[in-house]
Amino acid sequence: MVVRKDFIVKNVEKHRQEVFDAERFIWTHPQVGYTEWQANEYLIERFEALGYKLVRADQDDRFGKIPGFYTDLDTGKPGPMLCIMGELDALDIANHPESVNGMTHCCGHHAQAAAMLGIAAALKEPGALDGLSGKIRLMLVPAEEMIQLAYREELRKKGVISFMGGKVEFMHRGYFDGVDLSFMVHGMTERDIDFRCGKGNNGCLAKTITYKGKSSHAGGAPHLGINAQYAAMLGLQACNDLRETFQEKDTIRFHPIMKGVNCAVNIIPDEMIIESYVRGNNLEAMKRENEKINRALTGAALAMGAGVVLCDRQGYAPEYHDPQFMKLTEELCKDLVGEDRVKFNYETISTGSSDFGDLTCVMPGVQIHCGGAIGTGHGIDYFVESPERLCINSAKIQLMVADALLSDDAACAKKIVADYKPQYASIAEYFEYMKAFNLDKDAVVYDEKGNATVDFKN
Ligand SMILES: [Zn+2]
Ligand SMILES: [Zn+2]
Repeated sequence: MVVRKDFIVKNVEKHRQEVFDAERFIWTHPQVGYTEWQANEYLIERFEALGYKLVRADQDDRFGKIPGFYTDLDTGKPGPMLCIMGELDALDIANHPESVNGMTHCCGHHAQAAAMLGIAAALKEPGALDGLSGKIRLMLVPAEEMIQLAYREELRKKGVISFMGGKVEFMHRGYFDGVDLSFMVHGMTERDIDFRCGKGNNGCLAKTITYKGKSSHAGGAPHLGINAQYAAMLGLQACNDLRETFQEKDTIRFHPIMKGVNCAVNIIPDEMIIESYVRGNNLEAMKRENEKINRALTGAALAMGAGVVLCDRQGYAPEYHDPQFMKLTEELCKDLVGEDRVKFNYETISTGSSDFGDLTCVMPGVQIHCGGAIGTGHGIDYFVESPERLCINSAKIQLMVADALLSDDAACAKKIVADYKPQYASIAEYFEYMKAFNLDKDAVVYDEKGNATVDFKN
């Protein structure tokens, strides 16, 4: 393995201030998925100043306008294409002390975007592509966090997007066509190590559950109403009682939130919306357990004389890292920060989810975590402690991985691609399979007698 570590490190360090500036700018301008216009504009300006020609997701006439872009570096020699990417989106978390308009980068995606700028700048240094074959695609992707399901469904209905997750949407748009391998680095809050990687992640599907009741005077005439909030509570109770039937091996997660009522306290609520995921480490289990959950939700509506509209959307596929690619990355991480600062685990699946998983269905991919943040991921105590570790280490390792994969006539990349067994033969085949997760059902329909027909399955 020929790795020009010192050369790469030097090239990144030349641009550390630009990276730190980007980290602070994007942290202070957090925006949630498909609205990350400020970070997008900031990065576009700087990528273009570096001389990159961008394919912009807001300038693609075939599709709706969303943030995100990519650019290709061609080594001039034939070989595989590696995509390395950073995410743009923040989270709604109004109670975070540094939230802006109710949003914060408490998953650290802003640091990924800042690292990408460092990578882009380092790759423009003289000799950066020397000795490499193939291409490097640098990509900034929107909307990794699967949130604001109602807003995204609205975007979908308007034709702005077709999919809830940014990478899935980019796959649909063809932005991953021709890409042979993918790599990315996500932040983490561990202090005693610098890099961590597991076997992969749970997949998820996104659920919007709308209980429908009837409003009436809560004091004077509750008998004239149907309480959608109570129906929703009953539905969730039934789901909770199903939890012991979930099997440990599938790592199922169901974590609903009630979105609240839009009426006064003296009114019987006529609507309660619940958002949730069903997560799991394999698509079969996700499908099976989701059907049970939908049955429980439907039964609760019937018990209360309420209605329930079930809306399921394809979320993210379970993520499985390519072991050979992981091994190469592990060695490079150790080379960069020392053996005792690196933990790779080839057995354990994390119960979170990422749309990087969808990429691993069709190409070899690895997503690692890098330290530098503190507090709790997705928590109000999440802060960046060391932009050096979170952004600079991230940029360095991504460039080292690119260099190791594509040097020596791209021998490593070629071997990983040749040995990889895709779950789906193509991106098109993957999309065809994932369609099965979409469901729209008005699950309980009453006739004049008050009898009901239930229908909660595709
Ligand atoms: Zn997150
Ligand atoms: Zn994240």
